[in-house]
Parts: sequence; structure tokens; C-alpha cells
Amino acid sequence: MFTAERVADKSDWITTDTGDWEIIIGLEIHAQVASKAKLFSGAATEYGAEPNTQVSLVDAAMPGMLPVLNEYCVEQAVRTGMGLRAQINAFSRFDRKNYFYPDLPQGYQISQLYHPIVGEGEMLVELDDGDSITVGIERLHLEQDAGKSIHDLDPNATYVDLNRCGVALMEIVSKPDMRSAREAAGYVRKLRSLVRYLGTCDGDMEKGNLRADVNVSVRRPGGELGTRCEIKNLNSMRFIQQAIEYEARRQIQIIEDGGTVDQETRLFNTDTGETRTMRSKEDAHDYRYFPDPDLLPVKLSEDWLARIKADLPELPDEKKIRYVKDFGLSEYDAGVLVSDREKAAYYEEVAKGNDKKLAANWVLNEVFGKLNKENVEITDCPVSAAANCAIVAMISSDVISGKIAKQVFEICWEEGGDPVAIVEERGLKQVTDTGAIEAMIDEIIAANPDQAAKVKDKPKTLGWFVGQVMKASQGKANPQAVNKILCEKLLD
Ligand code: MN
Repeated sequence: MFTAERVADKSDWITTDTGDWEIIIGLEIHAQVASKAKLFSGAATEYGAEPNTQVSLVDAAMPGMLPVLNEYCVEQAVRTGMGLRAQINAFSRFDRKNYFYPDLPQGYQISQLYHPIVGEGEMLVELDDGDSITVGIERLHLEQDAGKSIHDLDPNATYVDLNRCGVALMEIVSKPDMRSAREAAGYVRKLRSLVRYLGTCDGDMEKGNLRADVNVSVRRPGGELGTRCEIKNLNSMRFIQQAIEYEARRQIQIIEDGGTVDQETRLFNTDTGETRTMRSKEDAHDYRYFPDPDLLPVKLSEDWLARIKADLPELPDEKKIRYVKDFGLSEYDAGVLVSDREKAAYYEEVAKGNDKKLAANWVLNEVFGKLNKENVEITDCPVSAAANCAIVAMISSDVISGKIAKQVFEICWEEGGDPVAIVEERGLKQVTDTGAIEAMIDEIIAANPDQAAKVKDKPKTLGWFVGQVMKASQGKANPQAVNKILCEKLLD
């Protein structure tokens, strides 16, 4: 299972006094299934409800209650498996994983150890420098979430909220194919994007709907694999990267000091950025897994699978290929646009009826630039995609210049309104009337006779005149027309 064949780019190695070290990383992601009801009961799953108001008798594990499998959750897991280009297992089964915890009234978690619903797959991961890697998927299985113990409401007591108890999770296990914190972050980012495209998980890490357990070990490049440690429950990109960096350096330090790394489960301290022992291998739990006798095996028919496959939306990898091939965008630009379902949808609306490349440049530079600067999400963008579509159309048809377009965008951002009406009412239309431009030019030449005389010897100084005309027209003169008339007057 622990293959680790890929050797990383040398830039990802950690170099110390004793030489190079390579980091080997595998991830287990718990992704909450987007579903209104729980995995084995009809109780609601809505976030932020009053404690213990979304708990059925099944979730509370009352004696004699029987779990009933939620078909929609199975469908969501299958959909995710298809998005991961993974083996979908027509036969899968639920097992009981026995352990005691105050927020787990059953005394066991229903999970899938022996026969997961999804087997091996792979995912293409784009990195921030434009490179990409392929990360293997080991499996995806369905399981229940536990409730929540609340320790900070009372000095002497712990409260239990069972709202989350029984909510469906997809546990997605990668192969140990990542070689740096950067690659691990890229993997989580892509996985999050994928489940959001598929609508199978909302990927909200702040709400804990997508959390990662990270397996880290170190080795000499090409050498034997080291002992790994698992860091539990990381719920932000930053924490995932910090935990990997810290843990790799901790293990290297131990080995270089002549010690050995103990296989253990560790916790990440978000305040200090360090990891500490949670439990060692010696007292590892024996979960006494066995097939859940209350649940029949899950058997999926070919027709049912074909129907789900036919309903899959266009996924980011395919979308990117289409943008490059049909729209002529660069790989990089296409990658940024498809990285998020909302961004891609926004771009496609702006591009409707417009030049695709011009629309892409506009969205990437103006819209995303402004969103980044103001720290606003695309879904909260005050300028609609339709308004941007109109702005781009006006650039294409020479109604406004690119410079004026930026001004119109700013007005729409601050004040709202229809860009076409704004251009009309505020007199922002480009001046293409050559007579008007010629009059302006004559005036400027007359006021600067010395400059005008120099142009024939130094044609480059023509640019100065272009700038003056643009200034005089408040940016509204059509630059092509200005250039043409200036050439005629000063160079011929
Ligand atoms: Mn799990």
C-alpha cells in the first residue's frame, strides 16, 4: 500500500548539514456529504442548529432502533468516486468500528473497512507554479460522523451535542504521493474544488465540513521509507502546510540526533504551530471491526451507475481542456478560471457573445484583481457577470477604450447600475469622429511647434503627442484614429 515511487523535484527536499531529505506525505480527508438527511436516519444536518435538536432515535442509539441507509448519500459517494476517476465497487458493505466515546452513543461507528464503496483512482493536481502532479487515490468509504463534546461551557462539566452524530462522511484516502507541503495543499485545493463542482460536499473548512489527517515520514532521496506519524484533524490549508513542515523537521532532527521516530498519532497546536503526541502505536486501539448485522450489503446496478455517470457535470479538468482548445486560452489562465465552479460559471457568462480571450483577460485582471484587493468572494461580487459582459462588449465594438472600461467597472462596483447607461449618461463614449480628433490635434500641434518639428527626425516622440491628445480628450479619443491622424500630419 505504501508505494511512494515518485521522487520529488529537488527543490522540495529539505537540506540539512547531513544532506538532503525527502518528505513523503499521504492524506486522509473527511468530507461531509452534502445531504439534507443523515446517513442512516431522517434527522436534519443543517449547520448551526440549537444543540440536540437534530437527533433521531437512531442517532441517539435508543435500544432496538435500526439504521436505514440513505440512498442519496450513496449516490453522492459514487458521484465523488467517478469524479476521482476511481473504481466504483458494485458491492460494498458496512462494518462496526467499536470504541467508546461520550459523543458516540452507539459505542461504535458504522464505517466501511473491508469493502469500501470506491476503490483506486487518481487526481491531477495543479501546483501554484504551474506544474502538475498526479496523486493516486487509495479508496473512498462512507461512514458516520460522531457528535461533539463541548468542554468550555462549564468549569466542571462537559456537554454533549449530538446534532452531528450520524451525519454522512466520505473518507478519501490518498496514496503517499505528495512530496512537500505545497503539493499537499495543492491536493486539498483540487479535491475541494472537485467535490464542490460535483455538489457532493460544500468544502467549507471553517465549518469542519472538510478536514484532513496527514501522514508524514522522511527518507534519504531514493532510500528506504521512514516511520510515519499521523497528524489528526487539520481544518485549514495553512494548518495542513504548517503541520507538515514542522513534523518533517521534527523527524529529521530525531534521526540526525541518532534517535528513531516512533509511529504515533499526533495533534497540531494551532497557537504554536507544533505537533505533540496524542497516542503511540503501543496503545493503538483494537476496534474489533465486524460486519454490521443491521445493514445489508450495498449492491449497485449497472443502470443506476450509468444514470449517475450521465448526470455528472463538466469537471474542472475537462473544462480546462475546452477553454484551451475552443477558446484559445493559455493553460495557466484556463487553470485559474476553472479552479472554482463559481469562477468558471462567472467567466462563461461574461464571455457569452464576446471574444473569449478578451473576456478572460478582463475577468482575470480586472474582476479577480479587484476581488483579491478588496478581499471579496466571487459570489459576493457587486458587479454582476452580465454587467461585465456588457462592458467587454463595449470594448470590442470600440464604444469605449480599455481605460474607460476600467473606470466604468469602478463606477459599477461603487454605485451599481447598468454599464451601457453609465457610458451614455456620463458621456464616456469613445470619440471616433475623426473631425473632432483632428481639431484637437491641430490645437496641440499649434501650441507645440518645436516638438512637432522634431517628430520627423525622431519618430518615437510621436508618442508624446498621442499622450497629449488622450489627455485632452479625457481618455475618450480612439487611440487608433489618433495615431493615424498624427502620422499623417507629422510624418508625411
Ligand atoms: Mn474516518
